Amino acid sequence: MKNISTSIWELDTFYRKRDIVIIGSGFTGLWTAISIKEKFPEKSVLIIERNPIPTGASTRNAGFACFGSLTEIISDSEKMGWDKTLDLVKMRFEGLQKIQSYFSADEIDFELCGGYEILNNEKASDRLDEVNQHLFPITKTEKTFRIANEKIKEFGLGKSEFLVENLCEGSLHSGKLLMKLVEKCHEIKVEFLCGTEVESVSENENELEIKINKNLSLISDKVIFCTNAFSSKFLKFEEIIPARGQVILTEPIENLKLKGTFHYDEGFYYFRNIGNRILLGGARNQDFKTEETSIFETTEFLQNHLENFLKDVILPNQDFKIAMRWSGIMAMGSEKMPIVKQLSERQFCAVRLSGMGVALAPKIGEMVCELVS
Ligand SMILES: Cc1cc2nc3c(=O)[nH]c(=O)nc-3n(C[C@H](O)[C@H](O)[C@H](O)COP(=O)(O)OP(=O)(O)OC[C@H]3O[C@@H](n4cnc5c(N)ncnc54)[C@H](O)[C@@H]3O)c2cc1C
Repeated sequence: MKNISTSIWELDTFYRKRDIVIIGSGFTGLWTAISIKEKFPEKSVLIIERNPIPTGASTRNAGFACFGSLTEIISDSEKMGWDKTLDLVKMRFEGLQKIQSYFSADEIDFELCGGYEILNNEKASDRLDEVNQHLFPITKTEKTFRIANEKIKEFGLGKSEFLVENLCEGSLHSGKLLMKLVEKCHEIKVEFLCGTEVESVSENENELEIKINKNLSLISDKVIFCTNAFSSKFLKFEEIIPARGQVILTEPIENLKLKGTFHYDEGFYYFRNIGNRILLGGARNQDFKTEETSIFETTEFLQNHLENFLKDVILPNQDFKIAMRWSGIMAMGSEKMPIVKQLSERQFCAVRLSGMGVALAPKIGEMVCELVS
């Protein structure tokens, strides 16, 4: 917006003082707004989003309703211990249940299609029983993960020695879920200012000033940063590392055998079917340094790498054409736990949702709502 002077009508309405301002309208911002408005219907809640639509990770991901793969859970337990790992799994499990309790499967193309992980050695499968025991209190099934090698042929996979199945995982349409969340927000009178970038936030004893351009500020009682990978300018002391995820999508493929969500290499590669197309993303670990960026681009190196993976592992002996390529930006840290905390008297944050925000955000919204109240 140009620095034109504001009118009294604008100041009294769109730019009036609010009880709570949320910055960022991805999954985290939207679920947070819903939790707050449901608990405190009398509070005025405004979401400020810098782009016309949420543009970070939420509209650009793979749409896994993700529980997490076997090797990912083992790796998490080795890095952060079982207690934190199970807390995170529980959050995802309950997050997925919450999504299903708000929206019908048809509304968001939710399918409990099962998740699979390709393994090429026995190391992880040797720990299957141990991991299942840890997960039992959450999933209430004795075999959350099971070996399903018979499906390797059924799905037409190449270069895959073992396949681990997880019936708790599903897929959904991220765009449709976001649209339903926005619809829900409108229903409960959450307000939006889209195409409006927050430049800075300053706090005094009585209120917050949220600067949206040189001449224009908005006053609020509290602010919640839901800016994920784009948070560094507001949260200087938190460890937030941007991580780009590149994606390719094929044209429809005749007689496609593959169905479900698939993980490979500790979750660095992920692919699924969308009807009779394949969406494949990841391989960040092939070029870590370049992908530590918040620039929405695709690179020739990783796009070629993904295409080769598609040829060798997912669609061996089958022709395919790439229809679309895009990238999205995640937020990572040395630890996988999201950062949900009070930063000062009036400022809060819910950021760093790593590669699992679809499932985590509904619970993160509840957690930050508890902090704010
Ligand atoms: C390629 C890819 C694949 C993924 N696959 C999956 C998956 O299959 N399953 C899964 O669970 N997770 C997946 N993820 C991760 C998941 O998408 C994220 O964890 C989740 O979307 C994070 O949501 P968010 O709302 O915290 O952040 P975002 O969606 O990034 O939203 C942050 C918002 O803040 C806005 N913003 C930033 N700065 C400002 C500012 N100054 N003023 C105003 N607005 C601002 C941005 O425009 C953006 O809309 C994937 C991510 C990527 C990139």
